Amino acid sequence: MPRVKDNAFIINKSDYGESDIIITLFSASRGKISCIAKGAKRSRKRFPGSLELFSRVSFNGFIKHPLALTRIDECQLVQPYLNIQEELKSYLNGCYFLEIVNRCSAERQSNPALFNLLDDLFSFLSAVPHNRNFSCRIRLFELQIITLLGFKPELSHCLDCGFKLGNEKARGNLFNFSPQTGGLVCNRCRPRHPAAFNVSQGTINLLNQAHMLDNKLRNKVNFTPQVEAESARLCRALLSWHSGCSFKSLKILERYGENNGIDKTAAKTMNKLITLNKYGVR
Ligand SMILES: [Zn+2]
Repeated sequence: MPRVKDNAFIINKSDYGESDIIITLFSASRGKISCIAKGAKRSRKRFPGSLELFSRVSFNGFIKHPLALTRIDECQLVQPYLNIQEELKSYLNGCYFLEIVNRCSAERQSNPALFNLLDDLFSFLSAVPHNRNFSCRIRLFELQIITLLGFKPELSHCLDCGFKLGNEKARGNLFNFSPQTGGLVCNRCRPRHPAAFNVSQGTINLLNQAHMLDNKLRNKVNFTPQVEAESARLCRALLSWHSGCSFKSLKILERYGENNGIDKTAAKTMNKLITLNKYGVR
């Protein structure tokens, strides 16, 4: 199997034994890659302070077997995004996005658009104290990630009976999103979906157009608290439906939001919870 040399973001890491580190990378050309950095805790020459969450690195590795961990031989720091770790609001939101990518993207499946979006997102989170419309822009990133992961729901037909939804416009332009189907259902089917909630045309429009927004346009977009709340609910329901699990980082984020202040243990707890490697190693 080949050697691999690429740029990547560090989306998860955990200690392994006395000197090794298991890391999950999201690379430019191969998507998510689970790796082991042997001797990383000891070798400052091969890993000069480069293995931190959110960092963009350039790495050399070796894929011994398609199902085995990729062995990282060398890793150089390209962009550390250190500010994310220093601002709790950035850090908690950043961890939520790391968990999304870690849980919802397939191993070694190229997704260059998602790689570029992570670069935009981490640049944004690095400058949080200077960003206006923080929550709007977080919602936009959320919608874009949903789309790039292929989770955007079918919007033209009811997922229960197949009815064409465009015919229902007369009923206040409200759509019914059903978490149990991961998409929209028509008014006639809604009683069979007790957990369904209303989503307005504005939120559907955002979902349709999110993939076209670059950093410049994202700065200009602003929307109502109603659309913001609907968008968050829709994205989280979709993520839960597709991944089959609830997001641990989201619980901390929501607690942080509800308390409207900093929970002293939030960052520490988040750090532990997002360590998600499949080997159960922390
Ligand atoms: Zn229906």
